[in-house]
Amino acid sequence: MVNIKKIFARQVLDSRGIPTVEAEVSTDKGVFSAIVPSGTSAGKHEALELRDGGKEYFGKGVSKAVSNVNQLIALRLEGKSFSSQKELDGVLLGLDGTQNKSRLGANAVLSVSMAFSRAMAVEKDLELFGFLGESFGNKEFVLPCPQSVFISGGAHADKSTDFQEFMVMPTGLKSFSSALQCVAEVYHRLAEILKKKDLHTNVGKEGSFAPNLKSLSLAIQGAFAPRLESNSMAFELLSIAVEEAGYSLGKDVSFALDVAASEFFKNGKYVLETEGKTLTGGELVDMYGELLDVFPVVSVEDGFAEDDFESFSEFTKKFGHRVQVVGDDLLVTNVERIKKAVSMNSCNALLLKPNQIGTVSESLEAARLAFDSKWNVVVSHRSGDTEDAFIADLAVAIGCGQIKTGAPARSERTAKYNRLLRIEEKLGGKAVFGKNFFV
Ligand code: PEP
Ligand code: MG
Repeated sequence: MVNIKKIFARQVLDSRGIPTVEAEVSTDKGVFSAIVPSGTSAGKHEALELRDGGKEYFGKGVSKAVSNVNQLIALRLEGKSFSSQKELDGVLLGLDGTQNKSRLGANAVLSVSMAFSRAMAVEKDLELFGFLGESFGNKEFVLPCPQSVFISGGAHADKSTDFQEFMVMPTGLKSFSSALQCVAEVYHRLAEILKKKDLHTNVGKEGSFAPNLKSLSLAIQGAFAPRLESNSMAFELLSIAVEEAGYSLGKDVSFALDVAASEFFKNGKYVLETEGKTLTGGELVDMYGELLDVFPVVSVEDGFAEDDFESFSEFTKKFGHRVQVVGDDLLVTNVERIKKAVSMNSCNALLLKPNQIGTVSESLEAARLAFDSKWNVVVSHRSGDTEDAFIADLAVAIGCGQIKTGAPARSERTAKYNRLLRIEEKLGGKAVFGKNFFV
């Protein structure tokens, strides 16, 4: 039982320099805090992130969300005792009373929900992952395999490629620490390769490189792909980096893709600006098929727009037996949308982002529904993230075996990787690494 003595929130900055909410929950055992992340290519069906509008911070301030915590939420919770995450989150949901958290703001609600998880963990003398695992009914902790983004485009990097994230997955490595070492080594190798090709190595929002591949790739022949345009050029460069770093492509290291296709869906068509092509959903399905034939891609996220359940279904029907089909903007960690996708066989994996839905309990429910539907789950950061490493514990707790948390660079990304190194140490010989992905 946790007795909440005080609740307090403040406005802090996320990794993009945009305001976000930090909450503190004070109990007899101490003060427990959490900071909420925020998306750039956010899905339109996500729970409402409350922003102030007006002049300050170009309208991006969160002082209304902060005062909702300091007034409405504090008034309701201070002096009360709670024995579970579900009980606390139930009160928050009742207080908000809307479908999409539009009264209090999902950012206000989630900050308190996450800080409470930390308070409960200490109350029960557990690590955060231990408490979240208990809340989820899972005792099999798993260190996740990273989906680490190395090249980014789309809304994350001024459209240097149409697809948003080209990721490396060290699926063949045997432990989290060796997987992270591999990721870091390949990342630095890629930087050298880019420099040699006169491409810049400045990093984007999630620590990944964002070279202008259009300049490099006027449909030239690649060592791996027969024909290279900017989107497949990214995988070509990753392939070279993997091999030059001394890892075996397809064996030690596989690839994952987050297309974030809503960003280039215009008037019912998919407009690939960097390749000068406009495709139907069906043509895009075939284009992914060609990529799968050439590169060891094991996961494709948001290959289609956020309401294009049909194209997702076509892709899953054709390729779901050999690739993980992940729904992010399509599903927004929302059980109703997951149910629809299950009934239409639109995906076989859920991208789990707690701030898309707004409470820890609802995030766990979404993961439960995905597992019950025989889907995989990938726990994910946001492009606007913070030093809070909550999702590292969440991934271990639910045992999903996969985390997407950026490049092995920039402290808001390495905070999660470093927390996972510490968890691996704590679990010692019991540390199971990465499972549940298709290879
Ligand atoms: C994503 O699309 O998976 C992502 C992490 O980006 P954002 O946070 O901008 O939605
Ligand atoms: Mg995504």
